[in-house]
Amino acid sequence: MAVNRRELLIGGALAGLGLAGVSPGRAGEAPAEPERKQAVLKISSQEGAIPGKDLNEKLDKMEKWGIEGLEIGGAVGREKSLPEALKDRKIKVSAVCMGSLGGRLVSPDNAAREKAAEELKRHLTAAGEVGSTGCIYVPCFNGEQDRNDQEVRKLLAESETGKDLAKVIGYRNAEIRKIAVDMLGPIGEHALKCNTRVLLEPLNRGEAWFLRQVGDAAAIARDCKNMGVCVMGDFYHMGIEEPSNMGAFIAGGQWLHHVHLASRSRVMPGQDKEDEANYLSGFRGLKHIGYQDFCSFECGCRGNKDEGIPKAVAFLREMWEKATI
Ligand code: MG
Repeated sequence: MAVNRRELLIGGALAGLGLAGVSPGRAGEAPAEPERKQAVLKISSQEGAIPGKDLNEKLDKMEKWGIEGLEIGGAVGREKSLPEALKDRKIKVSAVCMGSLGGRLVSPDNAAREKAAEELKRHLTAAGEVGSTGCIYVPCFNGEQDRNDQEVRKLLAESETGKDLAKVIGYRNAEIRKIAVDMLGPIGEHALKCNTRVLLEPLNRGEAWFLRQVGDAAAIARDCKNMGVCVMGDFYHMGIEEPSNMGAFIAGGQWLHHVHLASRSRVMPGQDKEDEANYLSGFRGLKHIGYQDFCSFECGCRGNKDEGIPKAVAFLREMWEKATI
């Protein structure tokens, strides 16, 4: 196997920092394909996207509009109040969009990684208690990757062997991927015990170079070797990064357990002219894999929400009917 000289030098220097062994490679085979079910369209929304003075008013509107899932910003602290608010309703908690861990789970610093792992587990425990399908997690935003890069340079500069390398080395996606798989495996096992999962969210290059495509996220999930680590797709980011929405969801396959809905310019689906083609393609993909989980609004609305949201629901149902496979 040909080894690039820079790879060799960096590999040697990183060994002392616990970052060696980052060459790409197939770390795991896919588990057996589950039996394919008939796909369902279950529409959800982020809590903040729905108008209303309080949660009950929002839930009333969601039920009236045929929205079946509620995506929340965090379950920690709501373990009792949320199931109480939903107990006489058809609406279930979909995903928890918990926000960033600051890139710390894939930091070059071991103590920072361990602290972030505990934080993610805490979110997963709470997500399980409210019956959520999973915690949405972005491993590394662009700015966080830059900061971790600075930490690698600092660590190298402090070591005898790394002094010169510190000037040239960058904290590369290969290192982040290796760390992500190592860290997420045990976290996925914790998620499974809590009856929930980690949902890796690919973004677009403007926000996160590290993870941009659903298929790449699914390959990371596969390498974690347990179904407590899964993925999601977001129509907005997919519009920037994926050559085919159908292809992206098929690549997500059995690991795909959540979807974010938005138009091409991140308002309600159906409010931009490209949306019909984008959604027909994406929904064909979801039907192909027998998708069973929620599709959730993460977007603004052009115009009045009380009119725009039910229109978007109708648009999605129409696209779902038209998306034949
Ligand atoms: Mg999203």
